[in-house]
Amino acid sequence: MLVVEDEEKIAQFLRKGLTEKGYSVEAVADADRALERLEGGEYDLLILDLLLPGSRDGIELCREIRARGIPSKVLMLTARDSVENKIEGLDAGADDYLVKPFSFRELLARLRALTRRTEVAEPGPLVYGDVTYEPESREVRRRGDVIRLTAREGSLFELLLRRRGKVVSRSEIQARIWEDSFDLSTNIIDVYINALRRKLDAGEKEKLIQTVRGVGYRLGEPGEPSRESEG
Ligand code: CA
Repeated sequence: MLVVEDEEKIAQFLRKGLTEKGYSVEAVADADRALERLEGGEYDLLILDLLLPGSRDGIELCREIRARGIPSKVLMLTARDSVENKIEGLDAGADDYLVKPFSFRELLARLRALTRRTEVAEPGPLVYGDVTYEPESREVRRRGDVIRLTAREGSLFELLLRRRGKVVSRSEIQARIWEDSFDLSTNIIDVYINALRRKLDAGEKEKLIQTVRGVGYRLGEPGEPSRESEG
């Protein structure tokens, strides 16, 4: 995600806190740098401060992002709690709005809601290499085999699939699938990863779910040999 915030303290607080929660966070301090970054890469989430220095404030930046057809979800931050500001922000194309000072828990809840909305907007099966997953029926097809997943297994597998081979950290899995409802020191994530492996990798030469030691999990590149470093 990209954070656009000129107040260094808040930018640092967001970068540190959200990184700890498993998000990959970059931060810039003004609209021009934000647009440069957005030209260079894809960000699923943007956090924009309303008041920014330079030629464009958060509202103008948001309008420009929408004018360029950038599909990222936008959460607007502002110190001003007025209906006019809220309407202006949403009219400019922001997806949600948070008034400073906000609690970190509330920010996390809003980000989760935005990500869920993104995911709902992409119906239909997910395809990754020789694997097809249908979220509605929670059925995985792999070379003619049909495997049914439970609700939790399905959510976990879908999260890994939507990242298309990137590492998903254990803390993000905890936040996204279990909504922070257990302590990370429990082994519940391992239990579910092992269950998925038993179902999906049984009898397969190429293991689908890879452990990235000390970080999290990712799906192996389709057609590439597994680079798994631990069982
Ligand atoms: Ca500001």
